[in-house]
Amino acid sequence: NGLEPATTVELSEEQILGILEAVWRRGDAELEKALYAHANAVTNKYCGGGVYYRGLIEFSNVCQNDCGYCGIRNNQKDVWRYTMPEEEVVEVAKWALENGIRNIMLQGGELRTEQRLQYLERVTAAIRRETVAMDLAKRAESGAGAPPVLPGGEEELGVAVSLSVGELPIEDYERLFRAGARRYLIRIETSNPDLYHALHPAPMSWHHRVECLQNLKKVGFMLGTGIMVGLPGQTLRDLARDVLFFKEVKADMIGMGPFITQPGTPVTATWNELYPAVDKNAHMRSMFSLTCTMNALVRLTMGNPNISATTALQAIVPTGRELALERGANVVMPILTPTKYRESYQLYEGKPCITDTAVQCRRCLDMRLHSVGKTSAAGVWGDPASFLRS
Ligand code: SAM
Repeated sequence: NGLEPATTVELSEEQILGILEAVWRRGDAELEKALYAHANAVTNKYCGGGVYYRGLIEFSNVCQNDCGYCGIRNNQKDVWRYTMPEEEVVEVAKWALENGIRNIMLQGGELRTEQRLQYLERVTAAIRRETVAMDLAKRAESGAGAPPVLPGGEEELGVAVSLSVGELPIEDYERLFRAGARRYLIRIETSNPDLYHALHPAPMSWHHRVECLQNLKKVGFMLGTGIMVGLPGQTLRDLARDVLFFKEVKADMIGMGPFITQPGTPVTATWNELYPAVDKNAHMRSMFSLTCTMNALVRLTMGNPNISATTALQAIVPTGRELALERGANVVMPILTPTKYRESYQLYEGKPCITDTAVQCRRCLDMRLHSVGKTSAAGVWGDPASFLRS
């Protein structure tokens, strides 16, 4: 590929589109191999060889939105709606710390009520308070010195809290930041406003979602965003623009996953009409490859950010997350949601690990990393350099 090993590359929309067309549409295997090797080298240079764990706690599936593809949307029938008791969420976070996971993400449906906001404030503050206390006690007991201090001046103590709870007014983001959350994930889903509006009924709006991304940065959050790959109506040019969009909003964390059908949703009905005769497994495998190519392109063009090997990849290819870790990704998210809730957080069909426990998910991931010669960078928060320097 004529590039120095492990250098990032400035690519235009046309160049990104050219690579997507060559690798995905024309099946240029040599270019694909070179792209993945280069992305892996850039990952190792910018993120080290270790893989960061983010424990995912799907604390509630109650949602007021009606995203046309999602299995927990407001109008989805036959879903048992739950919100985990606060103490149960805190217990899972404490378990995470004891098991070497220093980062948890609280993800849930979107609910813009004062009650939900206060729930999140209390849970975030309790997780920080209790896990910092656990850490300090352990350090005192073992005679460890002062805790590590991050370049931003913060002590790396306890479990870092990430939130993925959707669009809120800036004042609410400020309250959640004050409660102790430091990272926030909100996928733009697609950088094409027309496609976004075809998938999300009003009052949801693409411009409002972008405003939320900007507000989160203003408040000081480490910003995560991402897209789905293979949405009905999405083009390769849309995907090329997605790569540039992540750069434009200065994303610190990126998560991309294939769109997977979920019976009972309007977008799946559209998908079935568009592709009545398609071999679904072959189509999904092709979306898997396209998502890997996107991960590699983002790594190549941006260098620093934390890129997730998303669970949806594993829904298509059993070793999907491991493969993604060799193609630009450096983060995996073990699901820590207690087993009894998992079946009701079915965003798409075939979501893996529905019957597993947190212990199984943690062990299984360790083995998966080992199988591709990677190890977990346990015991650190794993902030990307882009955030620490900003
Ligand atoms: N409500 C929050 C939000 O909007 O940011 C977070 C929860 S939402 C369920 C988390 C993510 O699930 C979405 O951003 C979307 O990309 C993904 N998702 C939902 N339905 C999906 C599907 N059918 N296939 C793949 N991913 C899906």
